[in-house]
Amino acid sequence: MTGIRNIVILTGAGISAESGIDTFRSAGGLWENHRVEDVATPEAFARDPHLVQRFYDMRRAAIQEKLPNPAHFALARLDAEWKGGLLVVTQNVDDLHERAGSRRLLHMHGEHLKAWCTLCDIRHPWRGPLAGNPPCPSCGAHALRPDVVWFGEMPYRMGEIYAALREVDLFVSIGTSGAVYPAAGFVQNAVELGAQTLELNLEASQGSHMFHESRLGPASEVVTAWVEEILGA
Ligand code: NAD
Repeated sequence: MTGIRNIVILTGAGISAESGIDTFRSAGGLWENHRVEDVATPEAFARDPHLVQRFYDMRRAAIQEKLPNPAHFALARLDAEWKGGLLVVTQNVDDLHERAGSRRLLHMHGEHLKAWCTLCDIRHPWRGPLAGNPPCPSCGAHALRPDVVWFGEMPYRMGEIYAALREVDLFVSIGTSGAVYPAAGFVQNAVELGAQTLELNLEASQGSHMFHESRLGPASEVVTAWVEEILGA
């Protein structure tokens, strides 16, 4: 790969799988024994806020027990050593990229470790449960929800993502099924602008045919090898 200056990397649940965090689509179509519609939509929250808060409370507690894996560390090394432009756009709501040391990073689907007050619109760092309906530290209202983007809601920071994609020379997709839009469409944007595109995934995804190259294998291996390669080039 020559002539590469600006890199955009999209990561999905697959990069955190080897850290012990479940991906989204299990064989039965359930996410930790729940249907997506029951826990990850605004309608579900309106219908049964306690169930949704409990589900996210469990996941928020669980991710704090997990550790970054070699794939997260490889991307942090790339961040530290790559002199050109770099942006890691993660769909993940865990904090394993930042714990590994990534800095040029944005969370397009929000973060487990934040709570959002729907009354005063302020976001707070949050590690404990929300199911007891605690007050917002800023305004005191009992209107906190997980700061995650649910199905049917607008992802965060799309302007910054599309600005980075307009300048991209190499677009890399890691551990994502290519099923959730708008993230699944980023490869198309990159191709139309003449960028090279690479997929790193455990198995071919729905969108594999759109990439110039696919390398299959566990993220801890294929991401580490690719970072070695691009930094050595
Ligand atoms: P997904 O579950 O739809 O797809 C996971 C992808 O990861 C698949 O393509 C699978 O082949 C691949 N994969 C599994 N194990 C892998 C490994 N060891 N190495 C490399 N690849 C591996 O996930 P998605 O595409 O990210 O979309 C689901 C949505 O769910 C996202 O929007 C995200 O917000 C959310 N989610 C986040 C987390 C997290 O924060 N860790 C976990 C689950 C779901």
